[in-house]
Amino acid sequence: MLMALAPAHGQTTVDNPFFSAYNTPFGVPAFDKIKPEHFEPAFDEGIKQQLADITKITSQKSAPTFANTIEALEAGGDLLNRVSTVFFNLNNANTSDALQKIAQSVAPKLAKNGDDISLNPALFKRVKTVYDQRNQLKLTGEQQRLLEKTYKNFVRGGAALTPEKQERLRKINEELSVLTIKFGQNLLAENNAYALVIEKQEDLSGLPASLVSAAADEAKKRNLSGKWVFTLQNPSIMPFLHYADNRALREQLLKAYLERGNHNDARDNKAVMAKMVMLRAEKAQLLGYENHAAFVLEESMASTPAKVSELLNQLWAATVPVTRQEAAELQAMMDKDADPRRGKNEKLASWDWRYYAEKLRKQKYALDAEQLKPYFSLENVREGIFMLTNRLYGLRFERRTDLPIYQEEVQGYEVKEADGRHIGIMYMDFHPRSSKRGGAWMTSFRRQEVKNGRKISPVVSIVCNFSRPSGDAPALLSLDETRTFFHEFGHALHGLLSNVTYGSLSGTSVPRDFVELPSQIMENWSTEAQMMKLYAKHYKTGEVIPDALIEKINKSSLFNQGFETTEYLAASLLDMDYHTLKPDQTPTDVLAFEEKSMDKIGLIEQIPPRYRSTYFQHIFAGGYSAGYYSYIWSAVLDADAFEVFKQKGLFDPKSAQSFRKNVLEKGGTDEPMTLYKNFRGAEPDIKPLLRRRGLMKVL
Ligand SMILES: [Zn+2]
Repeated sequence: MLMALAPAHGQTTVDNPFFSAYNTPFGVPAFDKIKPEHFEPAFDEGIKQQLADITKITSQKSAPTFANTIEALEAGGDLLNRVSTVFFNLNNANTSDALQKIAQSVAPKLAKNGDDISLNPALFKRVKTVYDQRNQLKLTGEQQRLLEKTYKNFVRGGAALTPEKQERLRKINEELSVLTIKFGQNLLAENNAYALVIEKQEDLSGLPASLVSAAADEAKKRNLSGKWVFTLQNPSIMPFLHYADNRALREQLLKAYLERGNHNDARDNKAVMAKMVMLRAEKAQLLGYENHAAFVLEESMASTPAKVSELLNQLWAATVPVTRQEAAELQAMMDKDADPRRGKNEKLASWDWRYYAEKLRKQKYALDAEQLKPYFSLENVREGIFMLTNRLYGLRFERRTDLPIYQEEVQGYEVKEADGRHIGIMYMDFHPRSSKRGGAWMTSFRRQEVKNGRKISPVVSIVCNFSRPSGDAPALLSLDETRTFFHEFGHALHGLLSNVTYGSLSGTSVPRDFVELPSQIMENWSTEAQMMKLYAKHYKTGEVIPDALIEKINKSSLFNQGFETTEYLAASLLDMDYHTLKPDQTPTDVLAFEEKSMDKIGLIEQIPPRYRSTYFQHIFAGGYSAGYYSYIWSAVLDADAFEVFKQKGLFDPKSAQSFRKNVLEKGGTDEPMTLYKNFRGAEPDIKPLLRRRGLMKVL
């Protein structure tokens, strides 16, 4: 489906799959042929070809036009795009020593290449000439948008700076590119370095059978048969913290989690991130912004740090009393606990919170999270999501086993319209591996766009770290994991249903505080009674989830929301604190800075921020710097938007069609608020979010 690219220098490129059409079903990447040694030559050649594409633009005699400059620029760099998407996706989802080495080596080359384009004076001159004529050009709305975005990217990339400042900017970008890779690699190594090995059965007290069985599997994998291994991966540590009676072990495991990247050794991230904070601040000033947050937020819906602070502080004020009350309830419960192993006569600590919260949940709502899991097998959740998107958008998903995959566990699907027309390809990669970074994300191997008059169909992927099958049972998901699945699927729909002309405006290429709308709105369906009855079926008996359980889920939906909102807001505020610093204010002592930042807002000691500085991947290696707030910003939108489905019907095809046409198909071709209002008919209201989180009465 992609243009065949002529290899530039004979021999070395003959067997390199990046240098010719993939020759696979739907033109998906030829994962079965791509080997680590293919990447660097493809990167080098890709950079060279992009440079040639640009020289072609700048050396032409004809005056700059939208077509010969803006569109030409958009169309260039094909090979580089192709190799980059495959490489970075694999480096996140299935890395190796070889890939990590390549990442370190190509990061500065790519930073330099980016700068060579942004700081090319002849190119900028042409772009500016077109931009200055923008009102006379009779462009379509999407073309206007592409022109503005292109021009702004140049200015934000330093095109208008003096040569001396540009030189400094190049240095900063190069250093940042290397530090970003380093941060992520350190964190992955830290995640893999720790294991809690349990030898005595009695130390498993309280743990659900499924978790014990998974821990035995993990031990076997490590040649520790007969023992049990718990790791820092979410499906292992989180249930351990919820259920383990042994308080000392809970403490040990949580501390290991909280101390990732903070051991003053080769994998320590303190100096790495402190340097990044400083360089980002310097770069922002160089470009004429007060700080990094101001630079970043200019491109977001929130638009300024003050707007972000306003929302975060408003929510913080509403959350603190709720959280204090939760802490008091948990302390009371702990005080009554007679078992010294679990924490008799102790003060509630961070490693007690989830444990007693789980007990309190059981007491208050007679709801045991373990009791739910059999109704949420991975397969049933997946089928449920397929059915939902079929009812909303008419989509059909067909399993394709003939697609090349990058790891044996990856599943490929062809996505079709109701009438059978091809939409795109979707991969799903569900379970943790030591080669995969933590968390869950959606990504794209090929974006939707129109090239040479032909519609190029998207190839997207979701990557998760869900509980594995264990013993005789299939993979059974927690409610959290179930929600995450719906969430990532929402991002995937944004990529799949994109219907634009220009690739750089396609699918999820929207501001980060808007990109979580399509994902978070999907989460709403996961726990609606009407929806659960359609997909939450016992994996053994097929029995539909009983009404009594649904009622318990809904009744307990506000439970522990103080904790969850607090740990999230604390991390968001920490992110903003780092990124509103001036270069000379950046901390030498990261831990002290973090502590001060948390003291300032009065964070209670039992709740650490969801991410501490040394493992805050989102903001130091994930593209969410000054952007972690985005989830709650988008939550205002998704809670408000979902009201439409609550009023008109959970599967109302007309509302779904409107969401698809006005939001999902549009990508970044218009202002987010315009897209939102086209769907909703008004600007978003914060009240639905406050109601959903039980914060309404406080404000
Ligand atoms: Zn998301």
